[in-house]
Amino acid sequence: MSRTEFTRAIRRAALARSGHRCEASGKRYGFEEGQRCNCDLSLGVIFDHDVPDQLGGDASLENCRAICVTCNKFKTRGDIQQIRKSDRQRDKASGVLRPVGKIRSAGFPKSEKASRRQNKQTLPPKPLFKPAEETR
Ligand SMILES: [Zn+2]
Repeated sequence: MSRTEFTRAIRRAALARSGHRCEASGKRYGFEEGQRCNCDLSLGVIFDHDVPDQLGGDASLENCRAICVTCNKFKTRGDIQQIRKSDRQRDKASGVLRPVGKIRSAGFPKSEKASRRQNKQTLPPKPLFKPAEETR
């Protein structure tokens, strides 16, 4: 899934740096700012991009966090939301994505006008006074 995978050397270095304790910390992982998870990584370690590669993060040791499965699940949810948000902002700026409301409000009056014009053409002229004149 990731386009910028960490090399084995970087994974090894990140694990050594972590002291085999989860490196996740801060609000993105559901902790208070500066608070670190620190749980034992022997049960399973995930090498996470601190900045997701979709958001411009690279595969450097600085961008690598050795974290536990629980923290990875928590952060992945937040990353997806942020990636979707940045996708929307980019598409809006480039015109790929237009606000849904705008399309609706621009399309509705147009089609209403068109059907009104059709009705005018099919309506017969109203002979309001003619019958009265003929009886005279
Ligand atoms: Zn953790």
